[in-house]
Amino acid sequence: MVEYFIPKWEEIEEGILYIVEKMVNDNFIPDAIIAVLTGGVIPAKLIADALGVRNIKYIDIKFYKGIESRERKPVIKAVYVDNIENKKVLIIDDVADTGETLDAVSNIITMYNPSLVRLATVYVKPWSRKYPDYYYKILDKWIIFPWDKWEVVRENSQAPVDKKEKYLEILSKLKR
Ligand code: 5GP
Ligand code: MG
Ligand code: MG
Repeated sequence: MVEYFIPKWEEIEEGILYIVEKMVNDNFIPDAIIAVLTGGVIPAKLIADALGVRNIKYIDIKFYKGIESRERKPVIKAVYVDNIENKKVLIIDDVADTGETLDAVSNIITMYNPSLVRLATVYVKPWSRKYPDYYYKILDKWIIFPWDKWEVVRENSQAPVDKKEKYLEILSKLKR
């Protein structure tokens, strides 16, 4: 059985402020933020607002599991990025697991010749091959974020999340 970690909004907010404070202490205020779609969008918005960064770009990347789980690799679907040459860039996602997504996204962003690239995620798994420059906690469980709980419930109706009964009722209508 999968072990879940289900952070509340309070924990997310604490994590975001922890990360933002570290950036400010480092004197790292990015010129542009790249949000990894779709889970990175809400952390990116919170961090951008806290730092006063108005310039947010997006990268659409999906993790496909191959038939062999060892052949997993992320696939870039679309890159909504411009005007980051010679700029300080911060890439944001919700969590790094294998680290492959961050790796792929930083490789692409580097091709735009930014002056500096840093990475931030709220959580990171202890086995990640790439650690972001900024993160809140290291966790070895499957995280259910407030922003992806219905995605998880659609896959596993056993997932122990709040307001699930109401959502399952809606889902049964949706599937009719
Ligand atoms: P990686 O490429 O580092 O293996 O995986 C990162 C991506 O997979 C993230 O963008 C996120 O969408 C998804 N992911 C990895 N681990 C988790 C997790 O524990 N919970 C959720 N909700 N998504 C995860
Ligand atoms: Mg993702
Ligand atoms: Mg996700």
